[in-house]
Amino acid sequence: MRISVLYTGGTIGMVETPQGLAPGADLQGWLTDLLAGTDLAGQVVVTTMEPLVDSSNVTPLLWQRIVDQIRRDDESDGFVVLHGTDTMAYTSAALSYALTDLDRPVVVTGSQLPLGTPNSDADANVMGALEAASSGRLHSVAVFFYHELLDGARVTKASSYDLRAFTSPNVTLLARQSPTWQWLRTPQSGQGWGESGSGRPAPYRRCDVPVFSMVPGMGTDRLTSMLRPLPQAVLLRAFGVGNVPTEEPGLITVLERTIAAGVPVVVASQCYQADVDPNRYAAGRELAEVGAVGARDMTVEAAYAKICFLISQGLRGGELARWIGVNIAGELTS
Ligand code: ASP
Repeated sequence: MRISVLYTGGTIGMVETPQGLAPGADLQGWLTDLLAGTDLAGQVVVTTMEPLVDSSNVTPLLWQRIVDQIRRDDESDGFVVLHGTDTMAYTSAALSYALTDLDRPVVVTGSQLPLGTPNSDADANVMGALEAASSGRLHSVAVFFYHELLDGARVTKASSYDLRAFTSPNVTLLARQSPTWQWLRTPQSGQGWGESGSGRPAPYRRCDVPVFSMVPGMGTDRLTSMLRPLPQAVLLRAFGVGNVPTEEPGLITVLERTIAAGVPVVVASQCYQADVDPNRYAAGRELAEVGAVGARDMTVEAAYAKICFLISQGLRGGELARWIGVNIAGELTS
């Protein structure tokens, strides 16, 4: 058994500096001590992805570097990605789309408190992630955090301070470690990439996709200026099941013109738990009628990473909009 740990940065390996928390801990030494005397001792190799980053600085280019590092490594039976929590849900979704054909586990984790600090969750999270990756029961991308294993394309960061930082609002847990493992169901899966479902995706590229929330009283002029210059796609966080202020003069027309210009508008929700269906209310139906497409029960993170994935595959306009409803990696309920 060989598990490869890819260390990208995040609080887990940070130390106090005069500028605030920044990477600097001896992660390799800590991991060696943590594994001493366990079944995993001597079976884990660490690759540090330089430069280590606070995950606020992650871009789709780092998603791709992680994908490349995993694909290059034929020798490892599984992977653990150590990542900051702030954008972990975006990265785990992005890895899910890009690695549907991998058939080896990729478990993403990190911690709320730096390793070695009082009450740190680093030991438990990393041990749990390594155990999940070496269990033989997982073959896809998942997140392990606070004793819970969650589908990689379904998670959201739910707390900036609670040790239970991640949840998957629209699906149940995959497994719980409390303290022995309880495997609760098989991972969510999708059809994979390409019409055949077995396509090898093109690399992630940076994409220009604004994500914005509708708010009560939002004016058409503000919306118009947010869409200039025209982006590649828009992720709109509407109210509830996908409703917007349809009585605001010109607002729907702006979105209609945007879609007509070849820019897909994907409608997600501001609700923590949601299944978007813009056709349900009159205040959403106009959106659907002008061609906006609902994100169904995808999290905002999964929807954003999916749009970047599809843009990186060269899809635009209506073709991209059609793929939003296709379950590629278990990101939505079929
Ligand atoms: N700012 C940190 C990061 O995302 C937060 C964390 O890791 O918990 O890199």
